[in-house]
Amino acid sequence: MNIHEYQAKALLRSYGAPVSDGRVVLKADEAKTAAGGLEGPLWVVKAQIHAGGRGKGKFKEPEAGEKGGVRLAKSVEEAEALAKQMLGRTLVTHQTGPVGKQVNRIYIEAGSDIARELYLALLVDRQTSRISFVASTEGGMDIEEVAAQTPEKIISFSVDPASGLSDFHGRRVAFALGLEGAAVKQCVALVKTLYKAFTEKDMEMLEINPLIVMPDGNLKVLDAKISFDGNAIYRHADIAALRDETEEDPKELAASKFDLNYIALDGEIGCMVNGAGLAMATMDIIKLYGAEPANFLDVGGGATKEKVTEAFKIITSDPNVKGILVNIFGGIMRCDVIAEGVLAAVKEVGLKVPLVVRLEGTNVELGKDIIRNSGLNVIAGDNLADAAQKIVKAVKG
Ligand code: GDP
Ligand code: MG
Repeated sequence: MNIHEYQAKALLRSYGAPVSDGRVVLKADEAKTAAGGLEGPLWVVKAQIHAGGRGKGKFKEPEAGEKGGVRLAKSVEEAEALAKQMLGRTLVTHQTGPVGKQVNRIYIEAGSDIARELYLALLVDRQTSRISFVASTEGGMDIEEVAAQTPEKIISFSVDPASGLSDFHGRRVAFALGLEGAAVKQCVALVKTLYKAFTEKDMEMLEINPLIVMPDGNLKVLDAKISFDGNAIYRHADIAALRDETEEDPKELAASKFDLNYIALDGEIGCMVNGAGLAMATMDIIKLYGAEPANFLDVGGGATKEKVTEAFKIITSDPNVKGILVNIFGGIMRCDVIAEGVLAAVKEVGLKVPLVVRLEGTNVELGKDIIRNSGLNVIAGDNLADAAQKIVKAVKG
């Protein structure tokens, strides 16, 4: 689960990290009070979307102006005007895709003077099963680009959970970032703070880009991006409350409400499968026969008729879907339940694209009968290969 920059900063501030004062604005008429509540002489007006690269992004609407989603203002009036320009507009960055994201929240922050921009991130390294720090002197840039062009400018190390974090780790980061004087001590404290927040809140990634050194030598967190482990959200009601559903794929959101494991993809064949392994195999075989899956969807072992109906609705709501393949192995799940769910869903939302159903396992004959007697135009698949070929043929001709 991702959160907005202003929420991430509030969380880090509560842990004691150096963060500027700021106010979030949801409506244009709140902008003046928000900006007026901050001391000048510099204000930063920042579009809040769940995507990076805002500074270099571009708005779709010409009324939003030429500059990107992070703008500097020299007065309260200017900050107010910039906030009004950006609210409700669509910002396109290299992370949003060409469709862009609508800006529904603006963060107005007390501006900082910058001497150096640095990069610091924590993430769960799945290879070592540890938390890793990533640091670079090349802050304010795309870290992927730094990694591709000047990998020697990135240092990374992991923390042994048995011995935990110590000052040594903080000094290692400070040294890698070329810090001096008071900033070294601040860096050691910051590294401790971030590690504590990261572990306590079950974060998956915490990226500060840039972490800045100000002209007076002090450090400040200028941008913050946090994502949390979705499987641990139930432990953190305070974090769950930060969820902004308007930022999420509506199909994935609906799926999460019905406890379906669904990921939207860009292909043309919608898949409804039970079991993650079978779902992956189904996606592979669709590709093998020359088409692309529109989604990953595992309805789970104990799916009910309602769940299947919901899954079917989510698949058909995707305009890219040109055909649907239902591939179910009835083990715990019974084939007749799946068949009934599919029929109920088709009755509710209609069937505008070809549908191939392959059933195998518990109550398979009963399931096949239900579909056969439904009067619906459903193509039966005899086995996985046959079903995949049939749906690809139905879509591609
Ligand atoms: P991103 O483009 O989405 O990563 O947004 P950031 O919050 O990282 O802002 C982009 C860039 O704007 C930063 O790298 C800075 O160069 C600049 N910026 C952001 N906040 C300030 C500020 O308080 N003062 C100044 N001078 N520049 C800022
Ligand atoms: Mg940034």
